[in-house]
Amino acid sequence: MLSVPGLCWLCRMPLALAAWGICSVCCRALFITQTVCPQCGLPAAFAMLPCGRCLQKPPPWQQLVMVNAYAPPLSSLVQRLKFSRQPEVGQALARLLLLAVLKAHRERGLPWPDRLISVPLHSRRQWRRGFNQDDTLCRPLARWLSCAWESTAITRVRATPAQHQLSARRRKHNLRHAFRLELPVRGLHIAIVDDVVTTGSTVAEITQLLLRSGAATVQVWCLCRTL
Ligand SMILES: [Zn+2]
Ligand SMILES: [Zn+2]
Repeated sequence: MLSVPGLCWLCRMPLALAAWGICSVCCRALFITQTVCPQCGLPAAFAMLPCGRCLQKPPPWQQLVMVNAYAPPLSSLVQRLKFSRQPEVGQALARLLLLAVLKAHRERGLPWPDRLISVPLHSRRQWRRGFNQDDTLCRPLARWLSCAWESTAITRVRATPAQHQLSARRRKHNLRHAFRLELPVRGLHIAIVDDVVTTGSTVAEITQLLLRSGAATVQVWCLCRTL
């Protein structure tokens, strides 16, 4: 995906605002149209009520906000966020997430969080890559929403094998006690920001850590959810 300044990254039409990267027509088409469960983000019959799966075995977080499923063209933008060093990609994707959050606030009363938390990469992985893609999403979101955010609120205590190489059960085991909370969160409403939520085991582990530490509520914000 080659970008020409001033042109939409997806359709190559001129942009009203060059910094947005994606034109309003392509932007609209990036959002999910399918009805998904407000708690787990998986396809469901109702957008306002937790699905049957969540009623039986709810995830530890209260609500989930997503832009769309993990599929092109959004997935290629996310890949670009991970592996290129272009801060404008982070800014453009953060804007998509902001629009999804505003919509969830309007339509299903999503409460405003007090603090954003990014999912930490292990420091060695971050060192190799040079940055954490979730930080590049959180920085503009925290500014736009006047929300507290520190990139070091949660640290990874030990190196864990990359999640995508493991089965769902191994993923859960792999993450047990993998994180440490570095800030008090008692009584706070928290939003965990992650670029892609797959099985949800990483955000579930962090949610449980936050709730054990006294957080009032936890919501999950992601660009993509694998359906
Ligand atoms: Zn476009
Ligand atoms: Zn659900």
